Amino acid sequence: MLDITKELLLTKYNINKEVFDLSEKALNDVEAQFKIYDSIREYNQYKVLDAFQKERISDSHFTNSSGYGYGDIGRDSLDLVYARVLGAEAALVRPHFVNGTHAIGTALFGNLRPNDTLLAISGKPYDTLHNIIGIDTDEKIGSLKEYGVKYKQIDLTPEFKFDLEKIKAELLGDSTIRVVHIQRSTGYGWRNSFTVDQLGEIISYVKSIRNDVLVFVDNCYGEFIDTKEPTEVGADLIAGSLIKNIGGGIAPTGGYIAGKKEYVEQAAYRLTVPGIGGECGSTFGVMRQLFQGLFLAPHVAMEAVKGAVYCARLMELAGFEVLPKYTDKRSDIIQAIKFNDPDKLIQFCKGIQKGSPIDSFVECEPWDMPGYKDQVIMAAGAFIQGSSIELSADAPIRAPYIAYLQGGLTFDHAKIGVLIALSNVLKTK
Ligand SMILES: *Cc1c(COP(=O)(O)O)cnc(C)c1O
Repeated sequence: MLDITKELLLTKYNINKEVFDLSEKALNDVEAQFKIYDSIREYNQYKVLDAFQKERISDSHFTNSSGYGYGDIGRDSLDLVYARVLGAEAALVRPHFVNGTHAIGTALFGNLRPNDTLLAISGKPYDTLHNIIGIDTDEKIGSLKEYGVKYKQIDLTPEFKFDLEKIKAELLGDSTIRVVHIQRSTGYGWRNSFTVDQLGEIISYVKSIRNDVLVFVDNCYGEFIDTKEPTEVGADLIAGSLIKNIGGGIAPTGGYIAGKKEYVEQAAYRLTVPGIGGECGSTFGVMRQLFQGLFLAPHVAMEAVKGAVYCARLMELAGFEVLPKYTDKRSDIIQAIKFNDPDKLIQFCKGIQKGSPIDSFVECEPWDMPGYKDQVIMAAGAFIQGSSIELSADAPIRAPYIAYLQGGLTFDHAKIGVLIALSNVLKTK
Protein backbone atom coordinates (compact mmCIF):
# COMPACT_ATOMS: atom_id res chain seq x y z
CA MET A 1 0.00 0.00 0.00
CA LEU A 2 1.40 3.42 -0.95
CA ASP A 3 2.09 5.77 1.94
CA ILE A 4 -0.30 8.30 0.41
CA THR A 5 -3.03 5.61 0.36
CA LYS A 6 -2.42 4.86 4.02
CA GLU A 7 -2.48 8.55 4.83
CA LEU A 8 -5.77 8.94 2.97
CA LEU A 9 -7.37 6.02 4.83
CA LEU A 10 -6.03 7.24 8.19
CA THR A 11 -7.26 10.79 7.84
CA LYS A 12 -10.52 10.06 6.03
CA TYR A 13 -11.66 6.85 7.72
CA ASN A 14 -9.76 6.61 11.00
CA ILE A 15 -8.46 3.14 10.25
CA ASN A 16 -6.07 2.33 13.04
CA LYS A 17 -2.55 0.93 12.93
CA GLU A 18 -3.62 -2.45 14.31
CA VAL A 19 -6.03 -2.94 11.39
CA PHE A 20 -3.39 -1.94 8.84
CA ASP A 21 -0.95 -4.47 10.27
CA LEU A 22 -3.55 -7.25 10.24
CA SER A 23 -4.43 -6.28 6.67
CA GLU A 24 -0.82 -6.53 5.49
CA LYS A 25 -0.59 -10.01 7.01
CA ALA A 26 -3.94 -11.05 5.52
CA LEU A 27 -2.90 -9.87 2.04
CA ASN A 28 0.28 -11.87 2.31
CA ASP A 29 -1.57 -14.99 3.47
CA VAL A 30 -4.18 -14.92 0.69
CA GLU A 31 -1.69 -14.64 -2.18
CA ALA A 32 -1.74 -18.34 -3.09
CA GLN A 33 -5.56 -18.35 -3.06
CA PHE A 34 -5.71 -15.29 -5.29
CA LYS A 35 -3.53 -17.11 -7.84
CA ILE A 36 -6.04 -19.96 -7.97
CA TYR A 37 -8.92 -17.57 -8.55
CA ASP A 38 -6.94 -15.64 -11.18
CA SER A 39 -6.53 -18.82 -13.18
CA ILE A 40 -10.26 -19.67 -12.92
CA ARG A 41 -11.07 -16.12 -14.02
CA GLU A 42 -8.78 -16.37 -17.04
CA TYR A 43 -10.36 -19.65 -18.18
CA ASN A 44 -13.90 -18.32 -17.77
CA GLN A 45 -13.04 -15.10 -19.59
CA TYR A 46 -11.90 -17.09 -22.63
CA LYS A 47 -14.94 -19.33 -22.39
CA VAL A 48 -17.22 -16.28 -22.53
CA LEU A 49 -15.18 -14.68 -25.30
CA ASP A 50 -15.38 -17.87 -27.35
CA ALA A 51 -19.19 -17.95 -26.98
CA PHE A 52 -19.47 -14.34 -28.21
CA GLN A 53 -17.25 -15.12 -31.20
CA LYS A 54 -19.03 -18.37 -32.11
CA GLU A 55 -22.38 -16.56 -32.09
CA ARG A 56 -20.82 -13.74 -34.18
CA ILE A 57 -22.09 -11.03 -31.86
CA SER A 58 -22.03 -7.56 -33.42
CA ASP A 59 -23.36 -4.08 -32.90
CA SER A 60 -26.64 -5.07 -34.53
CA HIS A 61 -27.39 -7.35 -31.55
CA PHE A 62 -27.71 -4.36 -29.23
CA THR A 63 -31.35 -4.16 -30.22
CA ASN A 64 -34.05 -1.91 -28.89
CA SER A 65 -37.25 -3.69 -29.77
CA SER A 66 -40.77 -2.56 -28.89
CA GLY A 67 -44.26 -4.01 -28.72
CA TYR A 68 -44.34 -7.79 -29.17
CA GLY A 69 -40.59 -7.90 -29.66
CA TYR A 70 -40.85 -10.46 -32.49
CA GLY A 71 -37.52 -11.39 -34.01
CA ASP A 72 -35.42 -9.50 -31.47
CA ILE A 73 -32.06 -10.91 -32.62
CA GLY A 74 -30.25 -9.45 -29.62
CA ARG A 75 -32.50 -11.32 -27.20
CA ASP A 76 -32.38 -14.55 -29.21
CA SER A 77 -28.59 -14.39 -29.59
CA LEU A 78 -28.00 -13.67 -25.91
CA ASP A 79 -29.92 -16.86 -25.13
CA LEU A 80 -27.51 -18.74 -27.41
CA VAL A 81 -24.41 -17.11 -25.87
CA TYR A 82 -25.62 -17.97 -22.35
CA ALA A 83 -26.36 -21.55 -23.41
CA ARG A 84 -22.81 -21.94 -24.75
CA VAL A 85 -21.22 -20.38 -21.67
CA LEU A 86 -23.25 -22.57 -19.32
CA GLY A 87 -22.78 -25.72 -21.41
CA ALA A 88 -26.56 -26.04 -21.75
CA GLU A 89 -28.83 -26.93 -24.66
CA ALA A 90 -30.84 -23.74 -24.23
CA ALA A 91 -31.19 -20.62 -22.13
CA LEU A 92 -33.86 -18.03 -21.43
CA VAL A 93 -32.29 -14.70 -20.39
CA ARG A 94 -34.77 -11.93 -19.80
CA PRO A 95 -35.01 -8.48 -18.25
CA HIS A 96 -38.64 -9.49 -17.63
CA PHE A 97 -37.63 -11.69 -14.72
CA VAL A 98 -37.98 -9.29 -11.80
CA ASN A 99 -35.37 -11.16 -9.74
CA GLY A 100 -33.76 -14.54 -9.15
CA THR A 101 -36.78 -15.76 -7.21
CA HIS A 102 -38.98 -15.10 -10.25
CA ALA A 103 -36.63 -17.07 -12.54
CA ILE A 104 -36.55 -20.00 -10.08
CA GLY A 105 -40.33 -19.88 -9.60
CA THR A 106 -40.85 -19.85 -13.37
CA ALA A 107 -38.58 -22.87 -13.82
CA LEU A 108 -40.48 -24.81 -11.14
CA PHE A 109 -44.02 -23.80 -12.14
CA GLY A 110 -43.20 -24.50 -15.79
CA ASN A 111 -42.07 -28.04 -15.13
CA LEU A 112 -44.35 -29.27 -12.34
CA ARG A 113 -47.97 -30.40 -12.75
CA PRO A 114 -50.73 -31.16 -10.25
CA ASN A 115 -50.00 -34.32 -8.22
CA ASP A 116 -46.27 -34.12 -8.97
CA THR A 117 -43.89 -33.87 -6.03
CA LEU A 118 -41.00 -31.47 -5.63
CA LEU A 119 -38.22 -33.00 -3.52
CA ALA A 120 -35.65 -30.65 -1.95
CA ILE A 121 -32.48 -32.57 -1.05
CA SER A 122 -30.24 -29.80 0.30
CA GLY A 123 -32.59 -28.89 3.12
CA LYS A 124 -34.99 -25.97 3.29
CA PRO A 125 -34.69 -23.82 0.15
CA TYR A 126 -33.83 -20.11 0.23
CA ASP A 127 -36.37 -18.00 2.14
CA THR A 128 -38.02 -16.37 -0.88
CA LEU A 129 -38.94 -19.78 -2.32
CA HIS A 130 -41.13 -20.68 0.65
CA ASN A 131 -44.15 -18.81 -0.71
CA ILE A 132 -43.62 -20.27 -4.20
CA ILE A 133 -43.64 -23.80 -2.82
CA GLY A 134 -46.18 -23.13 -0.06
CA ILE A 135 -43.91 -24.04 2.86
CA ASP A 136 -45.53 -23.16 6.22
CA THR A 137 -48.43 -21.33 4.58
CA ASP A 138 -51.94 -22.00 3.39
CA GLU A 139 -52.45 -18.51 2.08
CA LYS A 140 -54.30 -18.33 -1.23
CA ILE A 141 -51.52 -16.80 -3.26
CA GLY A 142 -51.19 -19.36 -6.05
CA SER A 143 -48.35 -21.39 -4.59
CA LEU A 144 -47.33 -24.75 -6.06
CA LYS A 145 -49.08 -26.32 -3.08
CA GLU A 146 -52.35 -24.62 -3.98
CA TYR A 147 -52.06 -26.04 -7.50
CA GLY A 148 -51.70 -29.52 -6.06
CA VAL A 149 -47.92 -29.90 -6.29
CA LYS A 150 -46.66 -31.73 -3.23
CA TYR A 151 -43.43 -30.91 -1.45
CA LYS A 152 -40.96 -33.06 0.43
CA GLN A 153 -37.67 -32.10 1.99
CA ILE A 154 -34.58 -34.01 3.05
CA ASP A 155 -32.26 -32.09 5.33
CA LEU A 156 -28.50 -32.24 5.03
CA THR A 157 -26.72 -34.42 7.58
CA PRO A 158 -25.22 -32.70 10.65
CA GLU A 159 -21.94 -32.58 8.66
CA PHE A 160 -23.80 -30.70 5.87
CA LYS A 161 -23.58 -33.63 3.47
CA PHE A 162 -26.37 -35.01 1.28
CA ASP A 163 -28.30 -37.72 3.10
CA LEU A 164 -27.80 -40.47 0.52
CA GLU A 165 -29.86 -43.13 2.25
CA LYS A 166 -32.91 -40.93 2.71
CA ILE A 167 -32.64 -39.60 -0.84
CA LYS A 168 -32.56 -43.14 -2.22
CA ALA A 169 -35.52 -44.22 -0.09
CA GLU A 170 -37.65 -41.24 -1.19
CA LEU A 171 -36.83 -41.63 -4.86
CA LEU A 172 -37.65 -45.35 -4.81
CA GLY A 173 -40.67 -45.00 -2.56
CA ASP A 174 -42.49 -42.11 -4.22
CA SER A 175 -43.12 -42.31 -7.95
CA THR A 176 -44.77 -38.87 -7.97
CA ILE A 177 -41.38 -37.15 -7.49
CA ARG A 178 -40.86 -35.15 -10.65
CA VAL A 179 -38.34 -32.43 -9.74
CA VAL A 180 -35.37 -32.64 -7.38
CA HIS A 181 -34.24 -29.26 -6.00
CA ILE A 182 -30.65 -28.52 -4.94
CA GLN A 183 -29.26 -25.19 -3.72
CA ARG A 184 -25.62 -24.53 -4.59
CA SER A 185 -25.04 -21.52 -2.35
CA THR A 186 -25.31 -21.35 1.42
CA GLY A 187 -28.07 -18.75 1.63
CA TYR A 188 -28.29 -17.66 5.26
CA GLY A 189 -26.72 -20.86 6.52
CA TRP A 190 -23.51 -21.70 8.35
CA ARG A 191 -22.27 -24.24 5.80
CA ASN A 192 -19.96 -24.36 2.80
CA SER A 193 -21.48 -24.01 -0.66
CA PHE A 194 -21.53 -27.14 -2.83
CA THR A 195 -18.74 -27.29 -5.39
CA VAL A 196 -19.67 -28.17 -8.95
CA ASP A 197 -17.90 -31.53 -8.52
CA GLN A 198 -20.02 -32.27 -5.44
CA LEU A 199 -23.13 -31.27 -7.40
CA GLY A 200 -22.06 -33.58 -10.23
CA GLU A 201 -21.70 -36.48 -7.80
CA ILE A 202 -25.10 -36.03 -6.20
CA ILE A 203 -26.80 -35.53 -9.58
CA SER A 204 -25.25 -38.79 -10.87
CA TYR A 205 -26.42 -40.51 -7.69
CA VAL A 206 -29.99 -39.25 -8.14
CA LYS A 207 -30.02 -40.23 -11.82
CA SER A 208 -28.63 -43.68 -11.04
CA ILE A 209 -31.71 -44.29 -8.89
CA ARG A 210 -34.29 -42.53 -11.06
CA ASN A 211 -33.37 -41.21 -14.49
CA ASP A 212 -36.88 -39.89 -15.08
CA VAL A 213 -36.62 -37.01 -12.58
CA LEU A 214 -35.61 -33.47 -13.49
CA VAL A 215 -32.75 -32.14 -11.37
CA PHE A 216 -32.98 -28.41 -10.76
CA VAL A 217 -30.10 -26.40 -9.25
CA ASP A 218 -30.58 -22.95 -7.72
CA ASN A 219 -27.35 -21.45 -9.13
CA CYS A 220 -27.64 -18.02 -7.44
CA TYR A 221 -24.22 -16.57 -6.45
CA GLY A 222 -22.42 -19.52 -8.05
CA GLU A 223 -21.71 -18.45 -11.64
CA PHE A 224 -18.04 -18.28 -12.68
CA ILE A 225 -16.65 -19.29 -9.27
CA ASP A 226 -15.60 -22.59 -10.82
CA THR A 227 -14.53 -23.56 -14.35
CA LYS A 228 -17.78 -25.49 -14.79
CA GLU A 229 -21.44 -24.84 -14.11
CA PRO A 230 -24.00 -27.38 -12.81
CA THR A 231 -25.43 -27.78 -16.35
CA GLU A 232 -22.04 -29.24 -17.36
CA VAL A 233 -22.24 -31.99 -14.75
CA GLY A 234 -25.77 -33.24 -15.36
CA ALA A 235 -28.18 -30.62 -13.97
CA ASP A 236 -31.28 -30.54 -16.18
CA LEU A 237 -32.21 -26.99 -15.31
CA ILE A 238 -30.59 -24.08 -13.44
CA ALA A 239 -31.67 -20.52 -12.70
CA GLY A 240 -30.23 -17.35 -11.26
CA SER A 241 -30.31 -13.58 -11.02
CA LEU A 242 -28.68 -11.03 -13.33
CA ILE A 243 -28.00 -8.65 -10.44
CA LYS A 244 -25.66 -11.22 -8.94
CA ASN A 245 -22.53 -12.77 -10.53
CA ILE A 246 -23.60 -13.35 -14.11
CA GLY A 247 -24.82 -9.81 -14.81
CA GLY A 248 -21.30 -8.54 -14.14
CA GLY A 249 -22.61 -5.53 -12.20
CA ILE A 250 -23.81 -4.02 -15.49
CA ALA A 251 -27.13 -5.79 -16.13
CA PRO A 252 -29.76 -3.44 -14.68
CA THR A 253 -32.24 -6.23 -13.83
CA GLY A 254 -33.33 -9.71 -14.91
CA GLY A 255 -32.81 -13.42 -14.50
CA TYR A 256 -31.96 -16.53 -16.47
CA ILE A 257 -32.93 -20.16 -16.80
CA ALA A 258 -30.74 -22.67 -18.65
CA GLY A 259 -30.69 -26.40 -19.26
CA LYS A 260 -32.35 -29.04 -21.44
CA LYS A 261 -34.28 -27.50 -24.32
CA GLU A 262 -37.67 -29.05 -23.45
CA TYR A 263 -37.50 -27.87 -19.84
CA VAL A 264 -36.38 -24.35 -20.75
CA GLU A 265 -39.27 -24.21 -23.19
CA GLN A 266 -41.77 -25.27 -20.53
CA ALA A 267 -40.41 -22.50 -18.31
CA ALA A 268 -40.74 -19.99 -21.16
CA TYR A 269 -44.43 -20.93 -21.53
CA ARG A 270 -44.82 -20.04 -17.89
CA LEU A 271 -42.89 -16.76 -18.12
CA THR A 272 -45.24 -15.59 -20.89
CA VAL A 273 -48.04 -17.97 -21.96
CA PRO A 274 -48.37 -21.40 -23.58
CA GLY A 275 -47.67 -21.21 -27.31
CA ILE A 276 -45.71 -17.96 -27.11
CA GLY A 277 -42.90 -18.69 -24.68
CA GLY A 278 -39.62 -16.94 -25.39
CA GLU A 279 -40.55 -15.66 -28.83
CA CYS A 280 -42.15 -12.46 -27.53
CA GLY A 281 -40.91 -9.80 -25.17
CA SER A 282 -39.36 -6.50 -26.17
CA THR A 283 -36.10 -5.65 -24.49
CA PHE A 284 -36.27 -1.88 -23.85
CA GLY A 285 -32.74 -1.23 -25.07
CA VAL A 286 -30.98 -3.19 -22.32
CA MET A 287 -29.36 -5.78 -24.60
CA ARG A 288 -25.97 -4.08 -24.75
CA GLN A 289 -25.83 -4.02 -20.95
CA LEU A 290 -26.78 -7.68 -20.71
CA PHE A 291 -24.09 -8.65 -23.22
CA GLN A 292 -21.45 -6.42 -21.67
CA GLY A 293 -22.32 -7.58 -18.16
CA LEU A 294 -21.87 -11.21 -19.17
CA PHE A 295 -18.54 -10.34 -20.78
CA LEU A 296 -17.30 -8.69 -17.57
CA ALA A 297 -18.83 -11.28 -15.22
CA PRO A 298 -15.86 -13.71 -14.96
CA HIS A 299 -13.69 -10.79 -13.84
CA VAL A 300 -16.20 -9.15 -11.52
CA ALA A 301 -17.17 -12.44 -9.84
CA MET A 302 -13.52 -13.00 -8.98
CA GLU A 303 -13.09 -9.46 -7.63
CA ALA A 304 -15.96 -10.30 -5.28
CA VAL A 305 -14.43 -13.67 -4.34
CA LYS A 306 -11.08 -12.03 -3.60
CA GLY A 307 -12.88 -9.56 -1.35
CA ALA A 308 -14.50 -12.49 0.47
CA VAL A 309 -11.22 -14.42 0.82
CA TYR A 310 -9.42 -11.33 2.12
CA CYS A 311 -12.27 -10.61 4.53
CA ALA A 312 -12.18 -14.22 5.79
CA ARG A 313 -8.47 -14.03 6.59
CA LEU A 314 -8.56 -10.52 8.04
CA MET A 315 -11.52 -11.22 10.33
CA GLU A 316 -9.99 -14.52 11.41
CA LEU A 317 -6.75 -12.73 12.31
CA ALA A 318 -8.84 -10.26 14.28
CA GLY A 319 -10.25 -13.17 16.29
CA PHE A 320 -13.61 -13.92 14.65
CA GLU A 321 -14.89 -17.24 13.39
CA VAL A 322 -15.55 -17.22 9.65
CA LEU A 323 -17.05 -19.55 7.06
CA PRO A 324 -15.71 -20.40 4.53
CA LYS A 325 -12.12 -20.12 5.72
CA TYR A 326 -9.74 -18.33 3.38
CA THR A 327 -8.21 -21.60 2.19
CA ASP A 328 -11.55 -23.41 1.59
CA LYS A 329 -12.57 -24.17 -1.97
CA ARG A 330 -15.42 -21.80 -2.76
CA SER A 331 -18.49 -22.24 -4.92
CA ASP A 332 -20.24 -18.93 -4.21
CA ILE A 333 -19.29 -15.36 -3.29
CA ILE A 334 -20.70 -15.33 0.24
CA GLN A 335 -18.59 -14.80 3.36
CA ALA A 336 -20.11 -15.42 6.77
CA ILE A 337 -18.56 -13.84 9.88
CA LYS A 338 -19.70 -14.78 13.38
CA PHE A 339 -19.64 -11.94 15.92
CA ASN A 340 -21.36 -13.45 18.97
CA ASP A 341 -22.34 -9.85 19.80
CA PRO A 342 -25.14 -7.71 18.32
CA ASP A 343 -23.22 -4.41 18.60
CA LYS A 344 -20.18 -5.70 16.76
CA LEU A 345 -22.41 -7.13 14.03
CA ILE A 346 -24.23 -3.82 13.61
CA GLN A 347 -20.96 -1.85 13.59
CA PHE A 348 -19.57 -4.13 10.89
CA CYS A 349 -22.58 -3.50 8.64
CA LYS A 350 -22.44 0.25 9.31
CA GLY A 351 -18.79 0.20 8.23
CA ILE A 352 -19.63 -1.45 4.91
CA GLN A 353 -22.30 1.21 4.35
CA LYS A 354 -19.85 4.00 5.16
CA GLY A 355 -17.44 2.66 2.54
CA SER A 356 -20.06 2.59 -0.26
CA PRO A 357 -19.95 4.83 -3.32
CA ILE A 358 -23.71 5.38 -3.06
CA ASP A 359 -25.52 6.38 0.16
CA SER A 360 -22.29 6.41 2.18
CA PHE A 361 -23.84 9.13 4.36
CA VAL A 362 -26.71 6.89 5.41
CA GLU A 363 -26.65 5.01 8.75
CA CYS A 364 -28.14 1.56 8.25
CA GLU A 365 -30.22 0.29 11.17
CA PRO A 366 -31.90 -3.03 12.03
CA TRP A 367 -35.56 -3.06 10.99
CA ASP A 368 -38.60 -5.34 10.90
CA MET A 369 -38.46 -6.61 7.35
CA PRO A 370 -41.64 -8.19 5.95
CA GLY A 371 -41.36 -11.96 5.96
CA TYR A 372 -38.61 -12.23 8.57
CA LYS A 373 -39.08 -13.18 12.23
CA ASP A 374 -36.05 -11.28 13.53
CA GLN A 375 -34.97 -7.75 12.75
CA VAL A 376 -32.60 -7.53 9.81
CA ILE A 377 -29.80 -5.07 9.08
CA MET A 378 -28.71 -4.47 5.49
CA ALA A 379 -25.72 -2.50 4.30
CA ALA A 380 -25.85 -1.68 0.61
CA GLY A 381 -24.75 1.34 -1.32
CA ALA A 382 -25.21 0.05 -4.83
CA PHE A 383 -25.59 1.58 -8.29
CA ILE A 384 -28.29 -0.97 -9.00
CA GLN A 385 -30.89 -1.30 -6.27
CA GLY A 386 -30.41 -4.48 -4.26
CA SER A 387 -27.54 -5.67 -6.43
CA SER A 388 -25.50 -8.09 -4.37
CA ILE A 389 -22.63 -8.50 -6.81
CA GLU A 390 -21.92 -4.99 -5.49
CA LEU A 391 -20.41 -4.86 -2.00
CA SER A 392 -23.11 -5.52 0.55
CA ALA A 393 -23.63 -7.10 3.94
CA ASP A 394 -26.73 -8.25 5.72
CA ALA A 395 -27.66 -10.03 8.89
CA PRO A 396 -30.65 -11.13 10.91
CA ILE A 397 -30.25 -9.78 14.47
CA ARG A 398 -30.21 -13.09 16.30
CA ALA A 399 -27.60 -15.20 18.08
CA PRO A 400 -24.88 -16.05 17.19
CA TYR A 401 -24.94 -12.75 15.26
CA ILE A 402 -23.63 -13.71 11.84
CA ALA A 403 -23.02 -11.16 9.07
CA TYR A 404 -23.15 -12.28 5.45
CA LEU A 405 -20.86 -10.25 3.21
CA GLN A 406 -20.89 -10.50 -0.55
CA GLY A 407 -19.91 -8.67 -3.69
CA GLY A 408 -17.54 -5.92 -4.61
CA LEU A 409 -17.22 -4.74 -8.21
CA THR A 410 -13.52 -4.16 -7.56
CA PHE A 411 -11.30 -5.83 -4.99
CA ASP A 412 -9.97 -2.42 -3.89
CA HIS A 413 -13.47 -1.38 -2.95
CA ALA A 414 -14.22 -4.62 -1.10
CA LYS A 415 -10.97 -4.17 0.78
CA ILE A 416 -11.63 -0.62 1.93
CA GLY A 417 -15.16 -1.58 2.94
CA VAL A 418 -13.88 -4.41 5.10
CA LEU A 419 -11.11 -2.22 6.58
CA ILE A 420 -13.63 0.40 7.65
CA ALA A 421 -15.97 -2.29 8.94
CA LEU A 422 -13.28 -3.94 11.08
CA SER A 423 -12.11 -0.60 12.45
CA ASN A 424 -15.70 0.10 13.45
CA VAL A 425 -15.99 -3.27 15.16
CA LEU A 426 -12.77 -2.85 17.13
CA LYS A 427 -14.00 0.50 18.42
CA THR A 428 -16.92 -1.22 20.17
CA LYS A 429 -14.54 -3.13 22.50
C1 LIG B 1 -30.39 -14.45 -4.09
C2 LIG B 1 -30.87 -15.84 -4.07
C3 LIG B 1 -32.09 -16.21 -4.62
C4 LIG B 1 -33.02 -15.26 -5.31
O1 LIG B 1 -33.10 -14.05 -4.70
P1 LIG B 1 -33.56 -12.71 -5.44
O2 LIG B 1 -33.27 -11.71 -4.42
O3 LIG B 1 -34.98 -12.90 -5.76
O4 LIG B 1 -32.75 -12.55 -6.67
C5 LIG B 1 -32.45 -17.53 -4.54
N1 LIG B 1 -31.65 -18.44 -3.98
C6 LIG B 1 -30.46 -18.13 -3.45
C7 LIG B 1 -29.61 -19.19 -2.84
C8 LIG B 1 -30.02 -16.81 -3.48
O5 LIG B 1 -28.83 -16.49 -2.98
